[in-house]
Amino acid sequence: MTGAKLFWWILLVLALTLLACDRDKETAQNQLPPAAAPAPAEATRPPLTFPPDSGPAPAFDADRAMKYVKEIVKFGPRPLASANHKKVEDYIDSRLKGDQVEDDIFTADTPEGKFPVHNIIAKYPGTKDGIIVIASHYDTNYPLRKTSYIGANDGASSSALLLELANQLRGKSRDGYSVWLVWDDAEEAMKPDTEMPFMDDSLYGIEHVAQKWQADGTLKKVKAFLLADMIGDADLNIDRDQNSTPWLEDVVGEAAKRLGYQSHFFARDNQVSDDHLPFMKRGVPCADLIDFSYGYNNVFWHTPQDTVDKLSPQSLEIVGSVMLESMRILDRMDPLPPK
Ligand SMILES: [Zn+2]
Repeated sequence: MTGAKLFWWILLVLALTLLACDRDKETAQNQLPPAAAPAPAEATRPPLTFPPDSGPAPAFDADRAMKYVKEIVKFGPRPLASANHKKVEDYIDSRLKGDQVEDDIFTADTPEGKFPVHNIIAKYPGTKDGIIVIASHYDTNYPLRKTSYIGANDGASSSALLLELANQLRGKSRDGYSVWLVWDDAEEAMKPDTEMPFMDDSLYGIEHVAQKWQADGTLKKVKAFLLADMIGDADLNIDRDQNSTPWLEDVVGEAAKRLGYQSHFFARDNQVSDDHLPFMKRGVPCADLIDFSYGYNNVFWHTPQDTVDKLSPQSLEIVGSVMLESMRILDRMDPLPPK
């Protein structure tokens, strides 16, 4: 190769690399536009003190959680107002028999018309004054309703995770904060994101919960809001989300470290618009546990390729245990850092 050829060759490679980078960035922004919730500068935060490690890892039955994923997915596409959506509502309710369950039902006004929305909230009391909320949406993408899209990772994995968390919380007296599990509805946008910004047409269910709790005073008692979304990917890499509360992300990171799962957390920074934003904007500390890289370049996200074969029970186990360990750390962090 001559010098001139080499020069043009390097130039071509450089140009292609730049093009590829640009496209990645653009795609990420188009998919989930960043929200206006800048994280405080790392340097200005006081160092966190964690309570001592309190022993063996919490139990989480990953095989049972995986069975729930498969059962949910079996209903087929579960968009708002569909018969399958009703089936998954009934399915979640049936697994919470005997628990204290609140149904938050309302009508959402969306660009596709008016739709019934059904948030399901299961409450497990603790001895401490305050609530830890753990949320997952359970609806599937509406614009894809006429395809074979079943949202194994996006919707089913985290909904199943919460059902297994309910099994771990049920019938035990919690020496810590109350834990409320929220299966929120109508999280997905109604219009394709090429037609309407995600934040103007999504999060209908969880926004309603946040508004309601603000009005009735519940919101003041919420110490932390942990969100699970797209956590079943067999190639699990949970993002460090810049739209979440830095100290609560640190708690999640500490929990992962204590369980030996730190290699699956925070190798990548992201800025994700997700169900936590209605709570973030109302001053509640939030952490979004999301792996927003589902297949190379997020290629399986919101496509009929989002199927169970891409998931693994190990990923459910990692995120489930980290959720439980995070709760345990929060219970014993006294006082919690300022919001
Ligand atoms: Zn989605």
